[in-house]
Amino acid sequence: MEAYREAKRTLVVGVRKKVNFASCKPSAHYQLPLNTSCPGMCEYCYLATTLGKRPYLRVYVNIEEILAKAGDYMTQRAPEITVFEGAATSDPIPTEYLTGLLYKTIEFFGDQPLGRFRFVTKFNDVNSLLTAHHNGHTRFRFSLNAPSVIRMYEHAAPPLDERVAAAAMVAQADYPLGFIIAPIFHYPDWRQEYKGLFSSLAKALPETARRDLTFEMITHRFTKRAKTNITAIFPQTTLPMPEDDRTFKFGQFGYGKYVYSLSAMAEMKTFMMEQIGQHFPEAKVEYFVYVYLSPQNAASARRFFRQYSIFHPITSANARSHKPDRHAKNFIWVAALPKQTNKQDQYI
Ligand code: SF4
Repeated sequence: MEAYREAKRTLVVGVRKKVNFASCKPSAHYQLPLNTSCPGMCEYCYLATTLGKRPYLRVYVNIEEILAKAGDYMTQRAPEITVFEGAATSDPIPTEYLTGLLYKTIEFFGDQPLGRFRFVTKFNDVNSLLTAHHNGHTRFRFSLNAPSVIRMYEHAAPPLDERVAAAAMVAQADYPLGFIIAPIFHYPDWRQEYKGLFSSLAKALPETARRDLTFEMITHRFTKRAKTNITAIFPQTTLPMPEDDRTFKFGQFGYGKYVYSLSAMAEMKTFMMEQIGQHFPEAKVEYFVYVYLSPQNAASARRFFRQYSIFHPITSANARSHKPDRHAKNFIWVAALPKQTNKQDQYI
């Protein structure tokens, strides 16, 4: 635990030597490597699993080379637009006051007819970016959650109201805006709290922000490895990770995850989509959950989900021909294939 905390307080300034960018499907074409890790102490941070026991903060000084490489990728894909994700291995805002890397990157993409940039943050220190020449080419996304979830599990990140206020400032600066609501939990007050989240967003955001607004949502899930890491770093954690109450599914990378039951997920997604429809009817929902469904299970999954019009159970076999509906552009929902079943899942 001490090593983990110490790493989160240590900044490594380095040169990014690896030339090629990692791919970042399906949300972007490539990861843009600006920095790694972040000083936040969120219990469910996926970086705790991917960056190991000592997740030092790293920033890369050879930004010109990195952006030139981004230019090469854009040239290769021309005349298609190429999208780069700047937060695949970090939250880039906390070190921005030291490096100015985001500012430079945003201005670079502002001049690129065939390049788009996107990143996400839980932090509210956005002032230095408000005057950047973004030209609408950077999507500025905020990661939000219910106030009690933030209080309990996001130990070094700002509270919801400060993130919402920062999002309003970003919207005033005319950036395309987006929100990731994740991980969504199912607990006694979940409806009330997530409803409050959408109401406060609706109150704070200017009308202009609604024209180009995206949402991404992910329900809580965990792997055995993540659970082991989390309990090692946060021995007193109250994060709900009960294997018995969850459905086990195999992910696209071959390892298993524990997810909420299909009925709980359906309830949560229906509620969240209703909230978005009510407060932000013009918003685009970009929501990707990938789970493999065998063809024989796909038919019954489709029957199960027919009652929830927002869901689109698809299989790897029919993914290409799948046509999302008007309310859910790019919305791909692939239902879980339960290995262990509970009452509801037996339906599938
Ligand atoms: S703010 Fe994001 S990157 Fe930082 S610890 Fe929390 S989840 Fe991880």
